[in-house]
Amino acid sequence: MRYVDLHIHTTCSDGTLTPEEIVSLALKQEMSAIAITDHDTVAGISAAQAAGDAAGLQVLSGIEISTEYHGREVHLLGYFINPNSQHLKPVLEWTVKDRDLRNEKIVAMLRKDGYRISLEQLKAEHPNTVIGRPHIAEALLKAGQVGSIQDAFDRLLADGKPYFLPRTYIPFAQAAEVIYQAGGVPVLAHPLQYQFPAEELNQFIHTAANCGAVGLEVYYSGYGPEKQNQLKQLGDQYNLIYTGGSDYHGTRKPHIQLGTGMGHLRVPETAVVELEARWKQAHAR
Ligand code: AMP
Ligand code: ZN
Ligand code: FE
Ligand code: FE
Repeated sequence: MRYVDLHIHTTCSDGTLTPEEIVSLALKQEMSAIAITDHDTVAGISAAQAAGDAAGLQVLSGIEISTEYHGREVHLLGYFINPNSQHLKPVLEWTVKDRDLRNEKIVAMLRKDGYRISLEQLKAEHPNTVIGRPHIAEALLKAGQVGSIQDAFDRLLADGKPYFLPRTYIPFAQAAEVIYQAGGVPVLAHPLQYQFPAEELNQFIHTAANCGAVGLEVYYSGYGPEKQNQLKQLGDQYNLIYTGGSDYHGTRKPHIQLGTGMGHLRVPETAVVELEARWKQAHAR
């Protein structure tokens, strides 16, 4: 049995490997398929697919959209999307604009208090990248103003800390709709990361299914058999398939490895078969 990894970040968002490097690593690990799922961008898909085509690795197009559900930030994965979709474009542009404005404000607040970092430099160092707090944290570390990335979050950038600013999120239902319009199918990312109490989790997954989600990320870094079973039961209740991935970010999340997550992750390749079936079903005419 070969394995797949359907949740991967590249240098186009906050991962540290390029799309091509991801493909090489996946081949080295003898995976049969991967999906690129950068935050709020499709910029890495074509390079990864070209590298995958050349080397014989299936690379699904994907995205991870930050959405709002009942006042919480919830992540929605989209698979088999057309990266050139004219429906997706304005949504992603709107998100990046919101992020740009927020980055500008966060950096200005930090500079005002004597932290010596520059937004221009950040942008120059990360071209073609959706820049977020992880990149700001890294700049602070490079400038010697924090002890580690985690220190930057813990003291400065995390929600509730002095330099945190919220982002504006697209409503969950609207994100699901856009994924369909872009030719893809939505899957709920890491459903146990949102700290919903049991009853609300059930309600949330019910809502997700009603919004057109076709699957749940049952296999995820840190989800042991108990959590996987909990999610499988919920998935069965609402006719959702089981998908999964590591949420690999390279050295920005050094405890997570491509494909194997925190050591025990194995996403079966049946996930791709089922995902593809749901996708064909959803877009059949
Ligand atoms: P942003 O999209 O700019 O709000 O940044 C979100 C990313 O920052 C997340 O995907 C995490 O990788 C990272 N992050 C958020 N909160 C923390 C935290 N408390 N500690 C470490 N990393 C964090
Ligand atoms: Zn990320
Ligand atoms: Fe996520
Ligand atoms: Fe992710």
